[in-house]
Amino acid sequence: MHDRTRIKDALKTVFGFSDFRAGQEDIISSITSGENILAVMPTGAGKSLCYQLPAITRTSKTIIISPLVALMSDQVASLKEIGIAAEMIHSGQIYDDNVISWRRFASDDCHILYLSPERLMQPRMIAALQKLPIGMFVVDEAHCISKWGSGFRPDYEALSQLRDTFPSAQIAAFTATADSATRRDIAQKLCEGNARIIVHGFDRPNLSLSVAPKNNVNQQITEIVQGRSGENGIIYCLSRNETDQLAAYLSDRGVNAWAYHAGKDQEYRQNCQDRFMTEDDMVMVATVAFGMGIDKPDIRYVIHASLPSSVEAFYQEIGRAGRDGKPSDTIMFYSLQDMVKRQRMIFEAEGNDNFKFSEYARLEALLGYCETTDCRRQVLLAYFDDASAPCGNCDNCLAPPDVRDYSSEASYVIEAIYQTGQFFGASHIIDVIRGSDSAKVKEKAHDGLSAYGKGINHSKAFFQTIMRQLVARAIVKVNIERFGALEVTELGDDILAGRKSFTAGFISEKETKIAVRQSRKETVIRDEDAGLVGQLKALRLEIAQSKNVPAYVVFTDKAIMEMAYYKPTTEEAFLSINGVGPKKVKEYFEQFSAVIERYLNAQES
Ligand code: ADP
Ligand code: MG
Ligand code: ZN
Repeated sequence: MHDRTRIKDALKTVFGFSDFRAGQEDIISSITSGENILAVMPTGAGKSLCYQLPAITRTSKTIIISPLVALMSDQVASLKEIGIAAEMIHSGQIYDDNVISWRRFASDDCHILYLSPERLMQPRMIAALQKLPIGMFVVDEAHCISKWGSGFRPDYEALSQLRDTFPSAQIAAFTATADSATRRDIAQKLCEGNARIIVHGFDRPNLSLSVAPKNNVNQQITEIVQGRSGENGIIYCLSRNETDQLAAYLSDRGVNAWAYHAGKDQEYRQNCQDRFMTEDDMVMVATVAFGMGIDKPDIRYVIHASLPSSVEAFYQEIGRAGRDGKPSDTIMFYSLQDMVKRQRMIFEAEGNDNFKFSEYARLEALLGYCETTDCRRQVLLAYFDDASAPCGNCDNCLAPPDVRDYSSEASYVIEAIYQTGQFFGASHIIDVIRGSDSAKVKEKAHDGLSAYGKGINHSKAFFQTIMRQLVARAIVKVNIERFGALEVTELGDDILAGRKSFTAGFISEKETKIAVRQSRKETVIRDEDAGLVGQLKALRLEIAQSKNVPAYVVFTDKAIMEMAYYKPTTEEAFLSINGVGPKKVKEYFEQFSAVIERYLNAQES
């Protein structure tokens, strides 16, 4: 059979999907034509299929390198579930099991092996692999090889030897997070630049985008979460401490919230993940330690309780919401303190000045996203070299900001900073402008400055917003080396001299309320069919528990929803459900159709 039809055929018969998602076919045909590729697709776009499909339709063997044990186990379990032989070898598996896995892979019956990078690069492993017909190396989460991107892993660095060690094998790398410099770096390291770089599908139109300044963030988040009971969400925090505190705050208010971070032991974390996969209303309050490889389709919202580290990190984190394509919300809270904290983290991190400079630039790009008065999606996509029209699904599109000129208020701030010797932080500067008689103002005799009291007609909240925007737009700089003293940049001089104006969306004198949409309930399912959804999910859970696999490995929520909607009672109808292939028909048709028939009969009588 022709390659293309064979692939399309396998998509349906093996994976049970009727269509490719955007970009998948392009990537797959590039792989089958023998090219080295680096595919950049956002989280949840369906990268695994892009290498699994070519791997099962070719005769040579494929090695898939993946950084996380949990991620490997899930993928191998999912493949086995649809009838594909796949094995894995990593340090989380006992020696005997690794030996068995190897024997199976070395035999003619298995063509796919998942390996951790440190196992792959052991001399004995390399020697053994060189005796097998290895046709392709897949490097998943390939950004781990680059020091430019976030998430560099030293054990990935050794993968740059693959090309010389296996000169006839093809290399296919995948990542969700790489700006253009990082992409080139990855392609250089893995294939000496000899790779087609394919960028696809950064637009996730089902994710709404909102940003809000934080004032009482615990309370702000509680309101949102309580308005969405019965939905799964992730809340990202900056530190372990913040994570524990927010989770406790939410639990006290009746939310099924759990704290997840690297300080918790392995058993607790595993338990958290398992619950998150199966409980409908669980809210994970987590540091970035949570999420890589989490494949839960129905996460309805991702909230950032603090500013993330970069646009890439932010994009990857929000990308965990709404993988089923249904409307989901993303909300980021941030403050001036967050910006300073992030800058300090970069300043204190290891690495040379070049590295730090690029990290600052990344942070600045994220601040651009935060403070824009234009469509947020356009700003976000532009960062990934992807374009879009105004989206209609971000806070700025839904309620276009009333842009005003605040040049004179900004000048008060800049003057006060200059007149106090560029020596003080935000709160003292605001005191000076607002004519405060604080002890510090008196002690430094700042009440004698011409900037003193110029902003007396505005509230503290007003100037906090001005200050945050000045810093976010690099008009004023926070000098971390000088304990957070504010300094004026050239852009600030331009405003002071009247060469440039300073505009912003209307700034309220009060602490701003956020406008985030109310949660949307499932629209596809008629109310009276909700009972059927419950029965199907109960059966799924029972099967999942007896097989000791996560529920979504049996069927995704999307598949369950479609079953409840179409109510298939024939094998043919069952096969047309998204995510159902022949193997799942054989295995599950009887049980699930029995539930459906029972339900239909009960309705008639
Ligand atoms: P990524 O690695 O890009 O983050 P995954 O490969 O884990 O994403 O895929 C995310 C989800 O999308 C999985 O549940 C997968 O089964 C599903 N998926 C992938 N391709 C398709 C397709 N063509 N049609 C329907 N669902 C798909
Ligand atoms: Mg993946
Ligand atoms: Zn928009």
